[in-house]
Order: sequence, then structure tokens, then C-alpha cells
Amino acid sequence: MKLYNAGDKSKAICETCQDMVETTFLYRDVPFDDGTGKVKDILASVCDRCGEVVAIPAQSLPAIRRAREKIEVSLEAQVPASDIEILDAAATRISERASVRHRKFLLAFYVRKMARDPQGAERIKQLFLEAKAAKPKAKVRVPRKRLSFKVSHDFEEEFAAFAKISGLKKTQVLRGVVRDIRSDLVAPEHPASLSQLRELVATMES
Ligand SMILES: [Zn+2]
Repeated sequence: MKLYNAGDKSKAICETCQDMVETTFLYRDVPFDDGTGKVKDILASVCDRCGEVVAIPAQSLPAIRRAREKIEVSLEAQVPASDIEILDAAATRISERASVRHRKFLLAFYVRKMARDPQGAERIKQLFLEAKAAKPKAKVRVPRKRLSFKVSHDFEEEFAAFAKISGLKKTQVLRGVVRDIRSDLVAPEHPASLSQLRELVATMES
């Protein structure tokens, strides 16, 4: 990507001047993308003719993005207690300080991976059927428990879209994903994804 410095020159369409104009990269106070308030001293492309900000380079976008991802929504499901134990067992493999928040990390990682896999919708259906068919060896009661997470709006959307194309309910998707985590991360002696996940968690926790 192109990295701009203050004083660099460029060209852009200026809406105020209604023309292609020469611009200079300068530090300006720029409104947040949702219009609520301003961010001070953001490197922006400024019209040489009228002095208006005409464009924001990619390197300045994160600073003005009013963390839509910070808006959190609840994702909840009632699942068999054994599903939660699978998640927590997986968590102990990826972090020495495994705790409840690693459940969300694991689910998010595997949901994303599957949602981006062209065969993901088919796989999750199969995994859910496997999860549903798995019964305790003896006739013993397994209580249902509530899984509850705060997730980003973006993740919620991705998750809902994946559930929709799979034709599954959200709880069913979660159960399928837990099944995937079980066979990918819990069952194998040396899981292939382990080092990548440990690295991600270590980065997240640093
Ligand atoms: Zn202008």
C-alpha cells in the first residue's frame, strides 16, 4: 500500500471546487465516519484551491472509524453441558490461563474459518448432525447450560449470514462448531492448528 507523509502531493476530485484538483497531505481535524464528533490531527488529502479535506488515505482510516466493532451484541444459546466442557478443554490447550473468555475466542476463530470455506455450509450441517447423534454412553442426565457472549456487530452479521446459508439455527451452528473444535483441537494428540491458535491467543493477551 502507499504510505503518505505530510507535504506529499496528489490529485483528487474536490466536491467543493467541482474539479480535479492538486492536493497536499496535511494534518486536519476530521469528523468520525458516523459524524459524531471529530478526531484531531488526522493526515488527510487537502484541496490546494479551497482548503477542504477531499480524501482520507487508508493509513488514517482506523483512527476515524468510530469503533462500530465496539458495539457489542449478545449471542446466546442453550447447549448440553458437554459442549461447554469441549470448549473449555480446547481453551486449556491454547492458553495456560484458560478462562471463560477463551470460549468466545475459539468459537469466533472456528466460525470465521468455516464461514469463509466454500464447503463450510455443507460441513457445518454434517457436524451438527454428528453433534446431535452423539449420546452419552450410559443413560445419565446431561444438563443444558447457557452459552453467552458479547460479540461485535460485524461478527454477529457474519455469524447470522453463515447460519442462513447453512439453513441452521444459530444454536445448531454453535453446536456444529463445537463439534469441529472437538475433532480439530481436543481429540488429536498433536493438533495441526495448535501453534497458530497459541500464537493468536498470546498476541491477544499481550
Ligand atoms: Zn477544492
